[in-house]
Amino acid sequence: MRVGIGYDIHRLMEGKPLILGGVEIPYIKGLVGYSDADVLLHAVSDAILGAASMGDIGMHFPDTDPRYKGASSASLLRKVIDLISRKGYRVNNVDIVVIAEEPKIGVFRAKISKKISDVLHIDESRISVKATTSEGVGSIGRGEAIASYAVVTLEG
Ligand code: ZN
Repeated sequence: MRVGIGYDIHRLMEGKPLILGGVEIPYIKGLVGYSDADVLLHAVSDAILGAASMGDIGMHFPDTDPRYKGASSASLLRKVIDLISRKGYRVNNVDIVVIAEEPKIGVFRAKISKKISDVLHIDESRISVKATTSEGVGSIGRGEAIASYAVVTLEG
């Protein structure tokens, strides 16, 4: 059994789509980044790569590579799964925390779990998605950014 941790933060900007865990969430702002800026899936991808001691997503999918401009983070996560599968690893469970002042993520939890379960090809009972706010403190508290942590265990 191997454990990995992932963390990511992206800035919010008006007029961008908000994609969290591969699910588009209706909101006036969205996250800014080279790919679709899916902060949740970036944290999960980094946790998986970390558990396998295989670097991070910036190393595998650099933002200098035009192939990843506007890329779907679900497709990048799928590539991460292919990479660790080749080393004989598979994901056992994933625990995720999203830190966002707005919008309320809780109502989308089931949809996000289902999407991650589809991408990882594991049962939804192995995926946990939690959401919290920053209690008005700092950049997240001011609604300027959304962050996410993920912890993953791998078998193999
Ligand atoms: Zn990111």
